[in-house]
Amino acid sequence: MPEGDTVWRTARSLDQALSGSTLTGVNFRVPELATVDLTGQMINETLARGKHLLTRIGTDHTLHTHLKMEGAWHLYRPESPWRRPRHEARVVLRTPRWNAVGFALGVVELLARDDEHSAVGHLGPDLLGPDWDPAEAVRRLLAAPDRPLVEALLDQRNLAGLGNLYVNELCFLSGAHPRSRVGDLPDLTRLVHRAAALLRANRERTEQATTGDTRRGHTTWVYRRERAACRRCGTRIEVAMTGPAGRERATYWCPACQPA
Ligand SMILES: [Zn+2]
Repeated sequence: MPEGDTVWRTARSLDQALSGSTLTGVNFRVPELATVDLTGQMINETLARGKHLLTRIGTDHTLHTHLKMEGAWHLYRPESPWRRPRHEARVVLRTPRWNAVGFALGVVELLARDDEHSAVGHLGPDLLGPDWDPAEAVRRLLAAPDRPLVEALLDQRNLAGLGNLYVNELCFLSGAHPRSRVGDLPDLTRLVHRAAALLRANRERTEQATTGDTRRGHTTWVYRRERAACRRCGTRIEVAMTGPAGRERATYWCPACQPA
């Protein structure tokens, strides 16, 4: 699942390529929008809110998309071949210089501009947003002090932008077991600041690293390292499925560095 830094970079790419251009064609490959035609309207901007993308078109419309698990936006010159199968395309925005193709998007919906809050109004402070508010993120996290740390950090209503990779890494960096109560963490403020620093450090690069080492196989402390030796103490990293039924995720931790 893409993390907030990936979505931020996607928004910047779309914004730089498309903003100020007039749509020469639009294809929505989702049934509800199949008859919508925005040809002739100008793309004003694309911005990220947490892991949501908002592309503002004309004076009245906002295209809301979300990458969810497998989604991606690609930019192509009009004559260039696509790098993913055509049947995965959910929306195509055509401009004179670029075609933007959204593949396998988890959400594609067209909102009225003044209704954007219906898509993103529930989000907590945006880790990469201009209005990032760490104190508010801490306040929201502590409003439900009994929740497992890993679940509280993944809940975009508390703070927006973290996915499973960063959440697992933040638990390790804080020495906290992922299932510990969020209210028991001695310094939640430090964790929240660290979360923002990690996303900021990674938003300019395609290889995400929480260790400071972007070499393949060296990028994480615990994420996707089950049965490997902890980089700090040598203990075997453990993995378990956690979270509510139907939305379980793999959670990784070092039992020595992150005691229960
Ligand atoms: Zn360890």
